[in-house]
Parts: sequence; C-alpha cells; structure tokens
Amino acid sequence: MECAKCKGLMVSELFSDYFFTCYAWKCLNCGAVVDPTIAQNRRRPPSPETPEPVSP
Ligand SMILES: [Zn+2]
Repeated sequence: MECAKCKGLMVSELFSDYFFTCYAWKCLNCGAVVDPTIAQNRRRPPSPETPEPVSP
C-alpha cells in the first residue's frame, strides 16, 4: 500500500471511536489517513461528466 498523495509507505493503524473500531491506512510520510469506506466512496466519479472507463 502506498500513499496516493506522496507515494509514501502506508501502514494499517487501529482507529477507535466510542462504539466503532476499525483499521485504516495511515501514511508514515505525510500523515494522510485512508479509511477503507472513504476509499470506496472515492471510486465513484464526483460528476456524471467524468464517466469511468469501461473495461470488460
Ligand atoms: Zn503520504
């Protein structure tokens, strides 16, 4: 796993909320945190004007 921003090394880190505990990726270089759920949301294009390339 490498950082999308700086290509740095990312490590899985445990994040805990009051009721919720999950692992997320954290960049050791720039400190960016990538939550798996956020990463899933980013897969969708933000506007219909930028359709995803269709590959069979
Ligand atoms: Zn980074």
